[in-house]
Amino acid sequence: MKGRRSRARIALGVLVAATAGATACAAPVAPVPAIPPTTAPGAAPGGPAVVRFTATPPGPAPAVVALSWQVTGPAGASLTCSLDTDGDGADDLTFACADVGGRNATVAAPASYTARLTVSDGARTATATTTVTVTPPTLAVETFDVAIRQQTSLTPSVQAAFDAAAQRWGSILARGVPAAAVNIGAGACGAANGAINETVDDLTIDVWVGPIDGVGNVLGQAGPCAVGSQDGLPRFGVMQFDQADLADLEAGGQLGDVILHEMGHVLGFGTRWSAKGVLTGAGGADPRFVGARAMAEYSALGRGGPVPVEADGGYGTADAHWSEAVFNNELMTGYLDPGSNPLSRLSLASMADLGYQVDLGRGTAYTLPGTAALAAARAAAAADPTPQPEVVPLEPVTVARQR
Ligand SMILES: [Zn+2]
Repeated sequence: MKGRRSRARIALGVLVAATAGATACAAPVAPVPAIPPTTAPGAAPGGPAVVRFTATPPGPAPAVVALSWQVTGPAGASLTCSLDTDGDGADDLTFACADVGGRNATVAAPASYTARLTVSDGARTATATTTVTVTPPTLAVETFDVAIRQQTSLTPSVQAAFDAAAQRWGSILARGVPAAAVNIGAGACGAANGAINETVDDLTIDVWVGPIDGVGNVLGQAGPCAVGSQDGLPRFGVMQFDQADLADLEAGGQLGDVILHEMGHVLGFGTRWSAKGVLTGAGGADPRFVGARAMAEYSALGRGGPVPVEADGGYGTADAHWSEAVFNNELMTGYLDPGSNPLSRLSLASMADLGYQVDLGRGTAYTLPGTAALAAARAAAAADPTPQPEVVPLEPVTVARQR
């Protein structure tokens, strides 16, 4: 059990690549501004009220639209919310609600309609509406393609893990990004990459697996190396791993999870948060992810407000993962857990907040751990003093120019 735990506690730190170079050419995206509801919040005196009800700004189809709200009610009252997400006049969801919350609506085709939120305390109700606008697609619909360039020979099982991760992310990201010209010299991305001088559509990753320092300590490095000048999304990145650690992870049945996790960092999870303006409190004791779509999924999990981000683990782990103390075995926390590590709708929604078109239906079922599960996880971690391998952050990224 201890041995399994030592593997399980491998730190999946990253390359925080939100560098000055990347930021200079990739216009940062401001946090989603609050949009006033199209109708004045309704309220009966002394009863429940809708303080705020908004939808994310117009975007191209297919879109994940976050409906966000704040409600109030009489002290001690149990509030129930009903939501018409598609504007057909009928409520689609009814659930317990309190204070702030949200839900995501996937809108496949261009549309403009009125969504409606009703809050009830059992005796009185209040209603507010907001306009959902989804514009025509800006690009012909194409799939999101991840190309792997092997810089060293890979064992069949390792190669299969990379291919599976590329296919999974390619199915999650519902549409490609514009092609971009990438011109980077060999070794310019943390010494693991080959030269690249070509148009990339949508993402190319150089993979290097070789001896670094044996089992433990350094696991490798992974992250984006070039981002689009218009959308700030990665077009080229590197995944470099110690072969001894990959063999150890494979023996423990966790190779696929680690590769999927690290590829998420290459795509921007944790590595483009600051550049995209979706991270608050970085470097502090309580960093939070403030993208509207991820917050809506956090609300659907039964909580509300900005999503807790890891504050511990140092550079590469802190500010770049979901909080282990809150999300435990979710794949994009900073630590791999024994058993399953689901890649949830929360993580997928965070990619939509970065600017990707995402199919939230590709998320793996996930629920927040209960108090007992969290206590057990903390006890197991405390009982395992084995040093954890770490991922070393990449050096500054180079920026791609779009054609
Ligand atoms: Zn990580």
